[in-house]
Amino acid sequence: MAFELDHDMLAIQQQARATAAQAAPFAAEADECSLVHQPTLDVLRASGLCSLMVPAAHGGRHERVDPLAVCVVREALMRASSHLDSLFALQGIGSYAIAVAGTDEQREEWLPRVAGAEVLAALALTEPVAGSDLRGIETTLVDHGGEVELNGAKSFISNAGAAGFYTTLAREQDRFSLVLVPADASGVSVAASPEIIAPHVLGEVSFDRVRLPASARLGEPGAGFRHVLATLSVFRISVAGAAVGLMDGALACAARHAAAREQFGRPLVRLGPVAGLLADAWAELEAARLLAYATAEAARDDPSAHLDRSSLAKLAATEAASRVVDRCVQVMGRWGLVRGSDIERYYRQARPMRIYEGASEVLRLGVAARLCDEVAGHRGEG
Ligand SMILES: Cc1cc2nc3c(=O)[nH]c(=O)nc-3n(C[C@H](O)[C@H](O)[C@H](O)COP(=O)(O)OP(=O)(O)OC[C@H]3O[C@@H](n4cnc5c(N)ncnc54)[C@H](O)[C@@H]3O)c2cc1C
Repeated sequence: MAFELDHDMLAIQQQARATAAQAAPFAAEADECSLVHQPTLDVLRASGLCSLMVPAAHGGRHERVDPLAVCVVREALMRASSHLDSLFALQGIGSYAIAVAGTDEQREEWLPRVAGAEVLAALALTEPVAGSDLRGIETTLVDHGGEVELNGAKSFISNAGAAGFYTTLAREQDRFSLVLVPADASGVSVAASPEIIAPHVLGEVSFDRVRLPASARLGEPGAGFRHVLATLSVFRISVAGAAVGLMDGALACAARHAAAREQFGRPLVRLGPVAGLLADAWAELEAARLLAYATAEAARDDPSAHLDRSSLAKLAATEAASRVVDRCVQVMGRWGLVRGSDIERYYRQARPMRIYEGASEVLRLGVAARLCDEVAGHRGEG
């Protein structure tokens, strides 16, 4: 069963699959990199896919970023390589606030280069102290008339050290603002983050008396959370797309193995419990894909109205991905445990997805509240 994609989306899907095929031969190497893997970036750059991450007025493919297109592409890229997927996703995650809240000058300076993947983007929210609770951030932005000064430290920032700019959340008196910080601004420095189980380009970014023009703010003072939530509305759905791609890849490994290997005189797939593992995994994959695509389709006109639905799609797909890949490892027995194999890579890569861009427990809070609102609304109608 498949979600029906229109002609434009099918062409984008085909292009993403072709890009994934080009990056696949070096995926095993790229996915173990904590620095940008140049051949993978070259493939992404040449594909033109990053033009999906900015509006048409600034070198993009559509009038504005289309959550369905991003979802479709991430499914294809993640199936091949988490590094390829991450490079693509961050172009949008880091630049979306520029597209929706930047000045004409900021858009013209950065977005065409984001679209061409000539400059890499980053979104800097998390701090050593503040993770899920971003109201606890300690980075400060102080207004000095025509200039602002930024001080603080960000932690576990994707693309740190490789990005051309950091879209940064800072505390401005009792409000929160977003500020666009060029990576080469005086006072910006980057150190490596601890390595994680599924390597990722991650760094700790420090801002030491970074002076910027007041126009570096994205939107008005105090609008930081609004633009962060707008970004998450689009890109949480796309994490669901990536999780679907990961499940699809893992299930293909397990299905091939179950068809080829015999035990007790029959292929594994003819042994009831193994068939059950595969069938349940397939059911979860298809359900997560339908929810992701339907959510992305619904969010096309006004993504920011769909934050809770976007969280629901991310929650469902990333939790399913952990269960599915675990079942796939089980189907493959000892071959599911071999270091460097595709299935082992998927197993490790599924885990961080339940933590970044909203940990599952935190997403459940918003989703459950939305459920109660919707039920109360229906009761009112009845
Ligand atoms: C691969 C990777 C890439 C990342 N990239 C970026 C990036 O580019 N930019 C960026 O800013 N950050 C990035 N992060 C950081 C990420 O956003 C945070 O890890 C995430 O927000 C969770 O914060 P935390 O790790 O501090 O966990 P915590 O907030 O300390 O949470 C720990 C646990 O407590 C639970 N918890 C917390 N609050 C509640 C609550 N109210 N109710 C119930 N349970 C709760 C959480 O669900 C979790 O299980 C990245 C992280 C990873 C792993």
